[in-house]
Amino acid sequence: MSTKDWSPSSWRDKPIAQDVIYEDKAHLEKVLTKLRRLPPLVSPVEIDRLRCQLADVAAGKAFLLQGGDCAELFDDCSSDPIEHKLSLILLMSLIILHGSRLPVVRIARIAGQYAKPRSKPTEMVDFEIPDGPVGTDGVQKTQIEKREILSFRGDNVNGYDKADRNPDPERLLGAYFHSTATLNYIRTLLLSGFADLHKPLDWSFSHVRSPEIHKAFSAVIESLQDSLDFMKVATGAVGGGERGGMETVDLFTSHEALLLEYEEALTRSDQGSTSRSFSPPSSRTSTPAVSRSVSQIRVGTTSETYPHSPVRPPRSPKLTESLQNSFSDIKLEKEKDVQPAEKWYNTSAHFIWIGDRTRQLDGAHVEYFRGIANPIGIKLGPSMRPDEIVRILDIVNPDRIPGKVTLIGRYGADKVDQYLPAHIDAVKATDHVVVWQCDAMHGNTKSSTTDPSLKTRHFVDVITEITRSMAIHREKGTILGGVHLELTGEVNEEGYSVTECIGGSMELEDKDLSFNYRTHCDPRLNFEQGLDVAFLLADHLRS
Ligand code: PEP
Ligand code: MN
Repeated sequence: MSTKDWSPSSWRDKPIAQDVIYEDKAHLEKVLTKLRRLPPLVSPVEIDRLRCQLADVAAGKAFLLQGGDCAELFDDCSSDPIEHKLSLILLMSLIILHGSRLPVVRIARIAGQYAKPRSKPTEMVDFEIPDGPVGTDGVQKTQIEKREILSFRGDNVNGYDKADRNPDPERLLGAYFHSTATLNYIRTLLLSGFADLHKPLDWSFSHVRSPEIHKAFSAVIESLQDSLDFMKVATGAVGGGERGGMETVDLFTSHEALLLEYEEALTRSDQGSTSRSFSPPSSRTSTPAVSRSVSQIRVGTTSETYPHSPVRPPRSPKLTESLQNSFSDIKLEKEKDVQPAEKWYNTSAHFIWIGDRTRQLDGAHVEYFRGIANPIGIKLGPSMRPDEIVRILDIVNPDRIPGKVTLIGRYGADKVDQYLPAHIDAVKATDHVVVWQCDAMHGNTKSSTTDPSLKTRHFVDVITEITRSMAIHREKGTILGGVHLELTGEVNEEGYSVTECIGGSMELEDKDLSFNYRTHCDPRLNFEQGLDVAFLLADHLRS
């Protein structure tokens, strides 16, 4: 399918799943008009750089680590939580890189991961309501009433507070500005040496209490230090000066593109005023940046200069005016043929994905995704039929652009053997080249046995789904290119990691969950559990 009949708003003519209904349409339109005027958050150059790096992942030349919150909250847009999240991703990538000897492409679920699909649009909750006059003791008697309210759909739609569940368009602007502040702080940190490979122990590692993790990580650091010292000597670099380009790293942003009004407003043409000079090399499948992945690049900012748009061929000066007039229509058509095709970029993040609940072939989300030039993800759950995968790939990547599509399996540890093989076979039978990624979280959600109102995940299920995916890919001759995880390096005031998932080297048990359970959405691996996954990945990728 061509993108000829596509526009950033063509999704509006299609049926949409997980829609948000705003009562005040005029208010929504005012907000969208404002969003359309606001500057892009990321640039086409950065987006294309990521796509090139993902082409290397698809070819087995790099490993993709994607992770972050299930849902970011506006309140978490603050220096400490951002630093902790970043630290964990950086440390994990260093461990994987060290073990696998593969460059690691880092994508965070950050700076825009606000909207959530929900299995039920409403939920029943308890409201405490006054019951009679205030007593002589000054205490108001209350009674509990059950009420049905809209589910929490993420901070860019409504509030977690039970009294704040009506969708408010103003929150879309809140999402934009919180994304901007988060991204700005990440860029600042990275440009100020936060990811300097010479001091990885500064990345908030000190609060980790597990002696095993400390020991394992110290071994990585020692061996890394050796290599850095060697490189210093080899490159003739001296302290404080040139340090061999190890001062910062690439880090890209991502979120589920669920709220299409918001995504549309931040969709910009490469021939528009904000990015007129941009013209990425279309034939290139790999950038030099990939081979120096742990090196010069910042969150998308780049020191590379790309060639500018090809010069249009001159118009024939020999045509007489009358001829020009009579042929003007044809000439215009011809000019169209030689102009570089217009590209549309979603500038709210480098990478966006379609969730398992919104991937209907004839639906609004697939329609929106087929027109943008960003690398994209598609979640694959047990309900995805193999032939549907092929059809969706044909729709979103008709030109077979390498690095364009990441297929994100999220089957569950007990179902991956049943569904992944047929999904791989279906894609193998086509000429599509994809990144295969394992989301080891969303098929493994369970209720806590001590408090059924809490959702949890077992570390062992996460690891099983990853290692089974790797084994199945090996059997099929394909490659598991990366993992997609819900995790956080956040700690509470006393410096304790969150307690949302069971197991790992900390040996968290079901009864420990309530100790520091913070998520308003799905349970996340904590700092130590994230490092545990990284060490296991490093081992598996080495073998
Ligand atoms: C998610 O990634 O947060 C999510 C909701 O995933 P899925 O669409 O796979 O359920
Ligand atoms: Mn989730």
